[in-house]
Amino acid sequence: MADKTNYANWNPWHGCTKISPGCKYCYVYRQDEMYGSEKSSSEVTKNADFSLPLKLKRDKSYKIPSNSVVFTCFTSDFLVEGADLWRAEAWDMIKCRRDLMFFFFTKRVDRLEQNLPSDWGDGYENVIIGCTVENQAMADYRLPIFNRLPIKHKVIIVAPILESIDLSAHLNSQIEEVAVSGESGVDARICDYNWVLDIRNQCINNKIPFRFHQTGAKLLKDGKVYRILRKFQISQATKAGINTISIRQ
Ligand code: SF4
Repeated sequence: MADKTNYANWNPWHGCTKISPGCKYCYVYRQDEMYGSEKSSSEVTKNADFSLPLKLKRDKSYKIPSNSVVFTCFTSDFLVEGADLWRAEAWDMIKCRRDLMFFFFTKRVDRLEQNLPSDWGDGYENVIIGCTVENQAMADYRLPIFNRLPIKHKVIIVAPILESIDLSAHLNSQIEEVAVSGESGVDARICDYNWVLDIRNQCINNKIPFRFHQTGAKLLKDGKVYRILRKFQISQATKAGINTISIRQ
């Protein structure tokens, strides 16, 4: 059956600072370079559409319709230091739109606790947080923090996968999905398909849904490196047919 979920993008701020090996060829920097942005990508700026979740159409209905999944902060990190002044207002909008499901990824899960709204409790039902890890060291640093935090919907984002990673110690019933992606861009580092399959097995062993989200630009499979154009990276990953469940049902 076709997926009837509505998806929306909300990008309250733009720009980010690099903090770990996965950031080396960050797509935000690449896109800014491609479109000739005059601002430095490391400068975090508030976007004109900051208040999008509360914006109305002429007929007074919300621009983002009820029940949408809202991909949040995709040209920055929701927890980036440069957005500390604006985050409380962003949380207020998230709280106001309980009819939406907000989904953000972060490489700064160690900043979450100090940046939660005062009424967070054991988490807002309408927020999914993805903890991003790219190698074993980042998995072993970030995931224990992530697992301790009160969050209603947790997913692990392995992106860009840079090496073989053993997630077993961090997989538990709170994790709703593990999604793996290779790296995009001309300088992309290789994604070894065996690393992907290995994480898939770890997920199966721990009964956690697994998704191969995208191949990246260079996929090593059966001893050969395949160069995959950006526009086919998601479809090729899906074609591999190794997902154990689609994203949130
Ligand atoms: S945290 Fe994400 S958005 Fe920020 S520099 Fe790293 S890869 Fe880019």
